[in-house]
Amino acid sequence: MICIFGGTFDPVHFGHLRPALELQQALEIEQVHLLPCRVPPHRPQPLLAAAHRLTLLRLAIADEPGLAIDTRELQREGPSYMVDTLNSLRAEHGERPLCLALGMDALTGLDRWHRWEQILQLCHLVVMQRPEAQWPRDGVLAERLAPLRVAEVAPLRLHPAGAVLTLPVTQLEISATRIRELLAAGRSARYLLPAAVLERIEQENWYANG
Ligand code: ATP
Repeated sequence: MICIFGGTFDPVHFGHLRPALELQQALEIEQVHLLPCRVPPHRPQPLLAAAHRLTLLRLAIADEPGLAIDTRELQREGPSYMVDTLNSLRAEHGERPLCLALGMDALTGLDRWHRWEQILQLCHLVVMQRPEAQWPRDGVLAERLAPLRVAEVAPLRLHPAGAVLTLPVTQLEISATRIRELLAAGRSARYLLPAAVLERIEQENWYANG
């Protein structure tokens, strides 16, 4: 089974890393692949250039064999559409089960993603709970996802795509937005992200000017 966890990681923090590791353990797979996007199509552009966000990701996972980085979106021109990423993974891995992990807040906007219905045919979704975000109650997303929901990891291994699992993870109320705000205000962001990541940010004066 392959599992990717996409995001802007602007910058990477413990709210990404701890859930990603819990995901790797819960799915009992060798690695979860963190997948930084170059040009997010559905949200404001990252403050930090892709190459720097990648540097920080590398520092963050340097001593964790259960986490890896997939740089395919950084190598592609144009908007980083997840559907294109999944098609390229599918071409590489054939019929192997493919999981896309995302936080609950990201899930609630899934129906605004480019060709989102096709995404459900290309992968399983593993939705990680996040403080203050809830499962969509009504609308097209709730309707479309309800019949796909499964309660355990086992069914994900049986098919290449098409199931939706909610995974309870340690709730960490940390966001990259808050970290950027703290740094721009000259305040400490310590203990919200790995020390090596914060150290590099401070050395380079990244995020210091908003
Ligand atoms: P920003 O504040 O800039 O929007 P973010 O902290 O939400 O950033 P992203 O890189 O946008 O981080 O998120 C990537 C993925 O990680 C998304 O699927 C998001 O839901 C998930 N995620 C981010 N922070 C958390 C958290 N604290 N707990 C669980 N999931 C999270």
